[in-house]
Amino acid sequence: MLTQEQEDKVMQWLRRSTEERLSDRGLIDMALMIANAAPLPGKDAAQQQEWLVNGLDAILKSERRARRALADDINRRLMATPVITAAGFDGKRIVTEHQCVPRKIEEYGAFVLALLLDEDRGFKGLLRRCRLAECNRFFLAHVEKGPRPSYCCTEHRLRASALDAKNRVARYRERVRRVLKEESK
Ligand SMILES: [Zn+2]
Repeated sequence: MLTQEQEDKVMQWLRRSTEERLSDRGLIDMALMIANAAPLPGKDAAQQQEWLVNGLDAILKSERRARRALADDINRRLMATPVITAAGFDGKRIVTEHQCVPRKIEEYGAFVLALLLDEDRGFKGLLRRCRLAECNRFFLAHVEKGPRPSYCCTEHRLRASALDAKNRVARYRERVRRVLKEESK
């Protein structure tokens, strides 16, 4: 379990994210930060974090069934997320506002996964996971058109291609070694 202090901190963070009305992009960035972080302290928080990571992974997979299951899961959690409503009168018309108030990482995560899948918000198809094994970070590609980045940064792209070259050399040496061994028999 989280200590009271840690829990307060997480909740404070989540509340701030709604109160300060982060942009959709800001909410997504924060969720990716949670997903990319080391396992959160406390079993409950770590499980919710894992749920978020699995959800992001499901978005990246093209399996239809996994996506449908995810959509159902997201919907269930969003329906359980409290919404605050405010109404006012601006002198000409009634203005109402609704806002989700996630109480835990899962509810906040569900909102963000929905943002990433929404057909109209402009983030659909932008989620990536860095292909450099030692990184594996989730990130948003900057552009939907043009080449789709597979690495989170230039440094990791270069490092991956260097590793690839190193592996190729190692495989080549192994092949030579085997052939020489065969010939010496
Ligand atoms: Zn990376």
